Amino acid sequence: MNKTIDKEKQYCAQNYLPLPVVIVRGRGIHVWDDQGRRYIDMMSAYSAVSHGHLHPRLVSAMHTQLTQLAVVSRAFHSDKLAPFLEKACELMGMERGLPMNTGAEAVETAIKAARKWAYTVKGVELNKAEIIACEGNFHGRTIAIVGLSSEKQYRDGFGPFPPGLKRVRYNDPAALEEAITPNTAAFIVEPIQGENGIVVPDRGYLQRCAEICKKHNVLLLCDEIQTGLGRTGAMLACNHDNVIPDGLILGKALGGGLLPVSLFLSKRELMDVFEPGDHGSTFGGNPLACVVGLEALNVLVEKQLPKQAADLGEYFMARLKDLPHPFIKEIRGRGLLIGMEIDPNYFTARQVCEALLTKNILSKETHDTVVRFAPPLVITKAEIDTAIDSIESALNSLT
Ligand SMILES: *Cc1c(COP(=O)(O)O)cnc(C)c1O
Repeated sequence: MNKTIDKEKQYCAQNYLPLPVVIVRGRGIHVWDDQGRRYIDMMSAYSAVSHGHLHPRLVSAMHTQLTQLAVVSRAFHSDKLAPFLEKACELMGMERGLPMNTGAEAVETAIKAARKWAYTVKGVELNKAEIIACEGNFHGRTIAIVGLSSEKQYRDGFGPFPPGLKRVRYNDPAALEEAITPNTAAFIVEPIQGENGIVVPDRGYLQRCAEICKKHNVLLLCDEIQTGLGRTGAMLACNHDNVIPDGLILGKALGGGLLPVSLFLSKRELMDVFEPGDHGSTFGGNPLACVVGLEALNVLVEKQLPKQAADLGEYFMARLKDLPHPFIKEIRGRGLLIGMEIDPNYFTARQVCEALLTKNILSKETHDTVVRFAPPLVITKAEIDTAIDSIESALNSLT
């Protein structure tokens, strides 16, 4: 057994079940283990590493800032916050941003904003506001957010949960409309459900939800922590449906694979429910994070990574669909967010991931049946061909 893994098992909380590999170095689409073996990273840290590992421009921006200032808290102004928020708002069609660190914190921020908006703008009776989410959602791991989850394992043993949280079927606009009451503050939705197994709703679903929300004066909050920033072949997955939500949640790739950086973005009317002292985060919006976040956005735009994801995603998906294995039930996804559904009568997704590992491909199962392929968006066509060869030989080794 590996000593590093043994020690981690001794000291670390066992809240994950990592594949048996110790990563010590990364560069671009590749990582290396403690034996010097090189892998293609098809996980990208759940899409946090869309720019690739240690992108030189991001590392350089971070280094430069590290000679100036890293953390001051928002007790004071810093010169880096406004330029970052200005760029994020411009690119996403929003007016204001509230900086946090992790995705879950930004989701909590969105829910707090929606509740206060319901009381102060919509006129919902105090403490009666409702938030509607979808079956199969993943919005993070805080108490309130797992209270929104339909996943037994995420909830069991962690209750009681806050009231005012409801769920409706995903990809079912009629179910949303039925669930809305005069007390509904917001509908929170992922344009594609990532953790639920890359579940892609019908074209026009989000558009219908947006119309329903508008009709009933309900906020549409899009959680694009995983689907945003080019991953699905557009800057935002909402863009595929021509939807601009009332509130937008970004994280993961916003930190350029270097730091936790998240944002809640919205129109002015919604964000302005927050007054000084209502909400905060010690590290949220620190200069180091802002510099990295701004450069992450600049690289996405200048290198046209959303378009890269659209083109290469289509190619990658077509190549995967050509693989002739009877245990592949479905290949689905959008851009470079791709799921391979495994028939559980043959193998678990975990077994497939373990086979991929032996052929130098890093991936991770989501639930028992789906293998996720979400490489850094900087991957090239030739590298996808190499990956396909390895994936093929891994799948062959299973049969
Ligand atoms: C990862 C993820 C989150 C949670 O982000 P953390 O940084 O892990 O808190 C929330 N929503 C979606 C859609 C995600 O993929």
